[in-house]
Amino acid sequence: MTDETKYLLPENKIPKVWYNIAADLPTPLAPVLHPGTGQPIGPDDLAPLFPMALIGQEVSTEREIEIPEPVRDVLRLWRPALLYRARRLEQALDTPARIYYKYEGVSPSGSHKPNTAVAQAFYNREEGTKRLTTETGAGQWGSSLAFAGRLFGLEVDVYMVKISFNQKPYRRALMEAYGARCVASPSVETNAGRAVLADHPDSNGSLGIAISEAVEMAAQRDDTKYALGSVLNHVLLHQTVIGQEALLQMEMADDFPDVVIGCAGGGSNFAGLAFPFIGRNITKGEKTRIVAVEPAACPTMTRGTFAYDFGDTAHLTPLVKMHTLGSTFVPEGIHAGGLRYHGMSPLVSHILDAGLIEATAQHQVGCFEAGLTFARSEGIIPAPESTHAIKQAVDEALKCKAEGTSKAILFGLSGHGHFDMQAYTDFLAGKLEDHAHDDVALNEAMSHLPDVAAE
Ligand SMILES: *Cc1c(COP(=O)(O)O)cnc(C)c1O
Repeated sequence: MTDETKYLLPENKIPKVWYNIAADLPTPLAPVLHPGTGQPIGPDDLAPLFPMALIGQEVSTEREIEIPEPVRDVLRLWRPALLYRARRLEQALDTPARIYYKYEGVSPSGSHKPNTAVAQAFYNREEGTKRLTTETGAGQWGSSLAFAGRLFGLEVDVYMVKISFNQKPYRRALMEAYGARCVASPSVETNAGRAVLADHPDSNGSLGIAISEAVEMAAQRDDTKYALGSVLNHVLLHQTVIGQEALLQMEMADDFPDVVIGCAGGGSNFAGLAFPFIGRNITKGEKTRIVAVEPAACPTMTRGTFAYDFGDTAHLTPLVKMHTLGSTFVPEGIHAGGLRYHGMSPLVSHILDAGLIEATAQHQVGCFEAGLTFARSEGIIPAPESTHAIKQAVDEALKCKAEGTSKAILFGLSGHGHFDMQAYTDFLAGKLEDHAHDDVALNEAMSHLPDVAAE
């Protein structure tokens, strides 16, 4: 072990390939099904929404996929990202554990999301797309795509979940600063939005609704495609630069994690950090524990079912097999907006079902407490989403203390919280509550899952 505090790789160590875990899975992923026919879909079904290069990556089983040089060239603006040893947090917790974190908040929009936004914008431009539509929860993805779209000369329209649109005006300003258009969802611009507003004029919105709006707009115009910031295989693939860098940095630290932790909304930052380590578990027999952390208010992995479901509320998307609370589930307005999605990515769900990872749920008040302990020792104000990983890491470190064992803990700090200060203001004023859904509410939403015979 070295005694440094941060591990910085040179630019030429930005990964040259993405790691595709589909190549190493013990069993293949369940097929994606057409919402109308219930039959497996082919590339042509997805072509109205995505460029062919991304559709190819979605179904690829090649272990390594080359990162195009123009994409690496943009990633160079902030990558390789730093990996830190959290020595001051260790002292604050008085733990024998060694805590490391990989920090993605150094990107232009402040999270891991530009890692895939840049790649998606690049492939769209290559195939002639002029405009991208997308949804955003907390605004992290919208601002990341706004930034990436601008660099590659694409127009970007963002449907932003209404509660976040109101809670986070500066995220909207950031999207507009990059030149994107940002619309509160549900909106009157789409059939999907108008249908929700007719039934629920005061709807707070949800990611599922915003996805319906963005997909509907993309399907209408030939020059317009849709971009998703999480969940899909190609998105998780693009995030694996995180874990590949972390492997090299743990080597620089002359250490190796006993446990790797990430927060999980759709699963992309978790996968980005964890998949290269899971790959080592599968192919090299390492025994690293891998833990995905979700909010107790949206407990997809810990209380949902593993079944075919729609990705959106209006049922425009294909059916994917995933851990889901049901596409009609609308989570409470917790501050970790990026973790309020009714499903989990099919890849992370599959890997959880195969027993290759663990899942746990944390309540938001405990997460904010851990986030402040972190900020007051390490200095960085974490994104509310990221505090879920911090809370889990703190719990693991305190367990080491109680047991008198020294383990190496690595967690993903997926973003900073500079645009989320209202959440901290509310927390400090004692206004935050814990929400846990009762079984009745959860079972109600899950009783509407589509009937799919195929397995
Ligand atoms: C969007 C976001 C998340 C959740 O999305 P995943 O796809 O699960 O990573 C987590 N942290 C931050 C900072 C985010 O912006």
